[in-house]
Amino acid sequence: MRNVVILGSGPAGLTAALYTARALLEPLVVEGVEAGGQLMLTTGVENYPGFPEGIQGPELIDSMKRQAMKFGAEFVPGNATAVDVCQRPFKVEVEDKVFETKALIIAMGASANLLGLESERALLGHGVSTCATCDGFFFRNEEVMVVGGGDSAIEEAIFLTRFASKVTVIHRRDQLRASKIMQQRALDNEKIGFIWDSVVDEILDVNEGKVVGVGLRNVKTGEVCEHPCTGLFMAIGYTPSTGLFKGQLELDEKGHIVLGYYSHTSIPGVFAAGDVSDFRYRQVATAVGSGCRAAIDAEKWLDSIP
Ligand code: NAP
Repeated sequence: MRNVVILGSGPAGLTAALYTARALLEPLVVEGVEAGGQLMLTTGVENYPGFPEGIQGPELIDSMKRQAMKFGAEFVPGNATAVDVCQRPFKVEVEDKVFETKALIIAMGASANLLGLESERALLGHGVSTCATCDGFFFRNEEVMVVGGGDSAIEEAIFLTRFASKVTVIHRRDQLRASKIMQQRALDNEKIGFIWDSVVDEILDVNEGKVVGVGLRNVKTGEVCEHPCTGLFMAIGYTPSTGLFKGQLELDEKGHIVLGYYSHTSIPGVFAAGDVSDFRYRQVATAVGSGCRAAIDAEKWLDSIP
């Protein structure tokens, strides 16, 4: 029987691990197959306080993990394959092992939706990005493109105009999904252009190891063309990793875990931190803060049960 099991080893999970370890709760962290989460796909992180020169995403994760281990957090590799939070103790299956726990902190993150192209996967972190806030700064005076037509795409496009010389939004329809006010801001911004009714078929150039352009196809005319750019930002939505909890915990329509008070979920003893319940900020700094909150809430809750 564990005091607390933490699902996920991104910044939220690792911070929860550090705090629960220092509370002598001997946490067990189920790392997930994508251990370290989205930061492992990022190169330089320049907006996490304390690192004036910036820090590489994987290096930051490694430091957080070592810090948690120093205080006794235990790590188990692999994904949680089943979780039962309908009765206590909660049960977590990790492949062929079953762990029982009094408290559970869910910090399994979310993944940015991707188009599914091989070139996209190959160039992720080398010109393809899912986070303008994280990577926009690297594209000063360069031409970049944003894929998507929702609020995220428009917000990213507007943010990128601070750095890039030109930002082109590629949208698969001829109407944006984004809120009207965001649309208007983008349409009024002379640095932002639009390519409508078009999808990205290919990202160039995997052989060069960096983005030099995109192959586009107009979905109405079938016409194909190449467009040069050095950065491509994917903003086609996020999916929180909460599939295991459908039917057990209250989720919103997009699958985010709904928080009750503080970091408590709809089931006492189950807490959530980071992108599983964050539909708004999705920053390393906010994930760390929410991991800390969940750990403190879990500790207080454990103290309160007989
Ligand atoms: P979203 O609203 O789901 O928009 C996703 C966009 O990506 C849509 O335009 C969609 O096209 C496009 N898309 C999806 N799959 C695609 C594919 N395979 N290929 C090409 N395009 C694809 O997601 P979001 O923009 O991340 O926003 C999520 C939620 O957060 C929304 O409720 C949004 O309002 C909110 N949000 C708010 C703000 C803000 O208020 N400042 C900022 C960011 C997000 P279609 O339009 O054709 O479906």
